[in-house]
Amino acid sequence: MLEIENIIFPANLGEALATVRGIPGSVVLGGCGYLRLGSRKIRTAIDLARLGLDKIVETADTVEIGAMVTLRDVETDALTVGLAGGVLAKSVENIVGVQLRKCVTLGGSVAGRYPFSDPITALMAVDAELLFHGRGVISLQDYLEGKWGRDILVKIIVPKRQWIAAFTSVRKSVTDYAVLNCAVSKSGQDYRVVVGSRPSRALRVTTAENFLRENGLTKKSAVRAGELAAESLQFGDNPRGSGEYRKKICPVLVKRALLEVLDAA
Ligand SMILES: Cc1cc2nc3c(=O)[nH]c(=O)nc-3n(C[C@H](O)[C@H](O)[C@H](O)COP(=O)(O)OP(=O)(O)OC[C@H]3O[C@@H](n4cnc5c(N)ncnc54)[C@H](O)[C@@H]3O)c2cc1C
Repeated sequence: MLEIENIIFPANLGEALATVRGIPGSVVLGGCGYLRLGSRKIRTAIDLARLGLDKIVETADTVEIGAMVTLRDVETDALTVGLAGGVLAKSVENIVGVQLRKCVTLGGSVAGRYPFSDPITALMAVDAELLFHGRGVISLQDYLEGKWGRDILVKIIVPKRQWIAAFTSVRKSVTDYAVLNCAVSKSGQDYRVVVGSRPSRALRVTTAENFLRENGLTKKSAVRAGELAAESLQFGDNPRGSGEYRKKICPVLVKRALLEVLDAA
């Protein structure tokens, strides 16, 4: 069971940051979906619910999603549904059920860096950036790769390029964690191929991306890009599937996603 001794509602982001950096062991709360799975005692919890981080906003060059926006809003809001063919919205639609998606947040999904995450895979395919109150803007990829100090994630920023994108996953049952997930995108002759839940974290497959840039996207090149992804990545075992199985389904998922993009292009 999750026990919280003291809960703080900071009045602004500065106060939230000072608290998370100043009080050892303090924990930022998103929707608490993942935090409450474990049995732990939190001395000081920092609830960001009153900071107005639950908005999705469009600017001239970006769509910006507040850290406290729920996955249900990501799934249904016109701005995210219209963003890059709805790749982010589609990536969350199989996560458990509407009730959970109405509670858990995109910020919690990203800040937690969960290797099984579906939205992280989708966000990597559209070059998402993150605004932290302390360290400023960094790319999602840098965040996943680096070691960062304690901070408050404020929003997820998606640049508005002419992305055509698609998300695919294999799950043992519709609402289970993905055995493997994949997101691809095309913007002009620029491609992203991302595979996650391997079961380790999502990675871009630059061999496949370069191949597509050099050869263009066709039915044939989609097949080869899938093979390159399977050859380039490492896959491991977990209770949802073996590394060997993941390696076998990887080309199929990548190809399916690329063919979706080809159809939409
Ligand atoms: C039963 C179950 C099944 C799930 N299945 C899937 C699935 O199939 N695919 C998938 O992608 N996800 C899945 N999830 C994960 C879920 O989608 C959320 O990603 C997860 O619950 C975290 O979101 P949250 O808002 O609840 O964050 P919390 O649990 O509140 O927080 C998660 C972590 O992020 C930190 N944090 C939260 N917000 C911030 C912030 N603004 N700044 C800094 N740090 C912050 C917290 O301190 C904590 O370490 C599942 C979750 C559950 C409970």
